[in-house]
This record gives sequence, C-alpha cells and structure tokens, in this order.
Amino acid sequence: MVEDRFPARRWWGTSSFSGDAEVCEHVGKRRPSDHCYQKEVTPHALAPQIGLAALGKLPSGRFHLGRPDLQIPFHVCLSIGPRRKAGPPQFKKLIFLTFSIILCYLKTAMLFPKNKKFAFTIIDDTDFAGIENIRPVYEFLSKLGFRTTKTVWALPPKDKFKGASLENYRYRQFIGKLKRQGFEIALHNVSSGRLTRQDILDGLEIFRRYIGSYPKIQVNHAQNRDNIYWGVKRFSILKPFWRFSYFSGDNPDSAYFWGDYHQKHIKFTRNFTFKTLNTLARDPHMPYLDHQKSRFSNYWFSSSDAGNLAKFNRLLAPSNIDRLKKEGGAAIIYTHFASGFVKKNRLDGLFQKNLAYLAGQNGWYVTASELLEYLLTAGAGKPIKSRELLKLEFWWLWDKIRR
Ligand SMILES: [Zn+2]
Repeated sequence: MVEDRFPARRWWGTSSFSGDAEVCEHVGKRRPSDHCYQKEVTPHALAPQIGLAALGKLPSGRFHLGRPDLQIPFHVCLSIGPRRKAGPPQFKKLIFLTFSIILCYLKTAMLFPKNKKFAFTIIDDTDFAGIENIRPVYEFLSKLGFRTTKTVWALPPKDKFKGASLENYRYRQFIGKLKRQGFEIALHNVSSGRLTRQDILDGLEIFRRYIGSYPKIQVNHAQNRDNIYWGVKRFSILKPFWRFSYFSGDNPDSAYFWGDYHQKHIKFTRNFTFKTLNTLARDPHMPYLDHQKSRFSNYWFSSSDAGNLAKFNRLLAPSNIDRLKKEGGAAIIYTHFASGFVKKNRLDGLFQKNLAYLAGQNGWYVTASELLEYLLTAGAGKPIKSRELLKLEFWWLWDKIRR
C-alpha cells in the first residue's frame, strides 16, 4: 500500500521501519496531495523518525505512539511534504533534532488512569499462608489504600507445603473479607501436591462457589505435575525438549491434564520473573499471546521477583520507587507474604516504611487483573514475536545469573 502511493520513494530507507504503515483515514488531510499515515511506534522508535524528518528525509505524516493511551500526536512532520525538494529551514531542523533527543528518554513512559504516573501491584503466593501470618500484612495494605492480588488454594496441600485452603471455614471468611475490601483472589493451582484432573475440576468449582467466580489469574506452583507450560516449556528456545517435561497440566494424555479448563476460565497466566521493579520495562508486550501455547492458555504476563521479605525490601527501596515513578512504569511484584513479613504478630518495620513511602506517591494502586486489563485496552494482548520472547528468556536468565 505504501509502495503504491510512493512508487519512487520508500519511506524509511531501512527495512526496520518499512513494515506496517497503513493509511490513516480519520486524521484528515489538509489538501489532496497530503498523505496521512499512522504507524505503530514506541517513543524511542519515533525518535529517529523525527530525526530523519529534521533532515528532510521523511514524507508528511502524523505519528502516534503504539498504545491508545499514549496517543500523543506529533504534527511536527506535517510541514515536510513528500514532494518537497528542499529540506526544512535550519531552525526547524534544530527543533526536530531536539525533539528526537528528548524522545529517546521516553522509552517506557505510559499514561495511567486518573493522571497517575505509574502503576503498582503485588501478587501474593499462598505457600504457608494462614490467617495469623498474613492478616497484619493485609490490614496494613488496606489501611494505606493498596488493593493487590492474593492467590489461594481451593483444597488443602497434599505434600510438604503447608498453608490454609478454601476448605477451612475461618480462612475462607478471611479471604471473603479481603475480596469485599477490593483485593483480588487468584489461583495458585487448586492445591500443592499431586492433583488429578478430577481434583482440579473439583477445586475450580470450590473456588467459584466460595469466591463467586472463576479465577482470572493463575500462577503455577513449585513442582506440581499439573502446572501449565512449566519447566522447560517456559522457554521457546527449549521447544525440542518440551515433550520430555515432567509438568503435564497441558498434556491431554496425562492424568494431571486440565489445560482445557485452564484456557476456558483463566485469562492471565504468569511466566517470567525479573529482578527490576518496573516489570513493564522488561516485558513491554504483556499481557501477550504465545502461539506455541495457545491451545491451552490465553494471555501471559511477567512479574518482578520478591520471593521473600529481604528481596521485597530490597526491590521496594525508595530509590527503586523513585525510578519506577520517573520511568512511568508498571510493577507487578510477586512475593510470599507468609515468609517472615510477620513475626510474633508484628509486621516488619522496613516493609512498613517502604510501603508508606510508596503510598505517598502518585501511583495507580490496583489489582494485577485490573492492571493487565488496562494494558489490554492500551494496545497489548497481541501475539508475541519470537525474537521478543527470546529477549524475555534472555532477561530471565540474566537475572538468574546475577542473583
Ligand atoms: Zn507456591
């Protein structure tokens, strides 16, 4: 289409920018000879284009950023017509070049609802969680205005892992109260241990009965055989070895198979974890579709690893919060609140201090599902490209090595 309109002249000169430009009908044309295009670009991808525009190398156009919430129309190139022989005046060149330099620093900036500068949420893994060792955490989160995501087990654990389940009346009351306060209840498999397909289907029904709906989020648990696309299956680069995997929740021939129900009920499944607080900086495509896993899953997302109290406090140091704010990013912290956040009924002091500092910032504090749904409306949710997936795998490995 582009080539038809500009037979004698390619747009960007290099193949990296020549792919998916399309005619943009709604922007309006100033005169019949004006050509108006929309192209999905990220801010840092936009920078070289404006730089090129400054040098008179680009045809006219209007650019907006890839995600609808980031729509910042750039009219700066409109005055440079495709058929103009001469480049723009010197002062314009200077302005455009300055623009391009500034845009290089806008890499991950996003706009969030209510003019919030960044987004933050937590997913709490339910391992070893009972009322006593997590209630003070949730009372504190609630007091500060945070609404996060807590995973649960529907059935009591069947192996070395401990923790309450929805079968426990008091715990169920506690979880119900959290839900009423606005916390999200998600799934961490239906329990810990060996669970057959029937156990899992029963567990999903227990979840629905007590929580009111099926879970939107699932995070695989430890060594459960029923984990979905787990172990080597987390990595596209290890595809030849997938069939040897110990994990078989996505294998229809297995006794632990529940992939069909996983796809039917679970909207978001977590795969990678990273060491940086700004999860969106590491995984800018989340939630994404993975065509290699589309048979038994929907959207995939990543999180920032804060497996225990020490990691959590390190990750949420004020300097990291300031950076998250500056980057306009989104953090989905994955942690275990039952792993020492509360000792002798007292909540850790540094945890309280960091969270209080965070609460004082202009952040968007929502549950993981709300954040992921927002990212979907903002343009995410597309099938991820192989090279992007490889990038995530690389970053995951890199963070493991430097841990
Ligand atoms: Zn777990």
